[in-house]
Amino acid sequence: SQVFLDGEFVSSDAASVSVFDHGLLYGDGVFEGIRAYDGNVFRLGPHIDRLFRSAKSILLEIPYTPEELTELVCETVRRNHLSSAYIRLVVTRGSGDLGLNPYNCPKARVFIIAEQLSMFPKALYEQGIRAITAATRRTRGDVLNPKIKSLNYLNNILIKMEAMHAGANEAIVLNHEGYVVEGSGENIFLVRDGVLFTPPAYLGALEGITRQAVIDLAPALGLEVRQEPFTQHDVYVADEVFLTGTAAEIVPVVEVDRRVIGQGVPGPVTKRVHAAFQDIVRADGVR
Ligand code: PLP
Repeated sequence: SQVFLDGEFVSSDAASVSVFDHGLLYGDGVFEGIRAYDGNVFRLGPHIDRLFRSAKSILLEIPYTPEELTELVCETVRRNHLSSAYIRLVVTRGSGDLGLNPYNCPKARVFIIAEQLSMFPKALYEQGIRAITAATRRTRGDVLNPKIKSLNYLNNILIKMEAMHAGANEAIVLNHEGYVVEGSGENIFLVRDGVLFTPPAYLGALEGITRQAVIDLAPALGLEVRQEPFTQHDVYVADEVFLTGTAAEIVPVVEVDRRVIGQGVPGPVTKRVHAAFQDIVRADGVR
């Protein structure tokens, strides 16, 4: 396959970066995980916008315009002859010396990988997943705001490990005040009495593009969405719980901290939202 790296397309075997890249040395950089359906890149505009917001926040200058990056993402998909793809767009601070100082890195490094999508097992969607609450917190009180999609994913990885060690599929994350914010790499929704609830991003969550897609499609399904803070208790007693993310799409959660959610199977609202999501990913996208 072909990877876009430092201004050119190279074969994936030849696509390597310097050990002096600050993305590797310090996690100094930002990224996006994007998806293409039937050759259409889903909500590429919002992904590019979020990338630029993340970069601005950490004073990282992206050496391309949003229009150029849009075209480069589409070109990467085309060159690999992919119709359904998972795309990784990464911008690092670039190569410098071993010091922290980002100003010793003359130019940001950009690379784009597009791969055949490896779907999650179907059973995950049919049966739903089990989650725990992570002890690791995610908080906007950190210097690194969770709204920044940075290359520093160690916190998220520790959260994912907690889930694995507990024999669960995912972990639900709380902020410093104990409010539920998101999963290790997905946003969270509850369904209660036919209303959708999701935490406001300011509590300490990424402004997920799939989350926004669900907010956008809800009115057509006659569903109200409320962005309100909620706690573990609200999760336990919800009728339905689901997670949203680019790779995962809409994943039903049927158990949290050993509490069975609803009937213990993916609920009707989650199924309707998932079906509506499947429709829109095929309807709007860029090539
Ligand atoms: N939260 C975190 C921490 C993430 O890394 C992701 C994945 O990108 C999400 C939420 C879901 O966001 P999106 O729907 O834009 O993929």
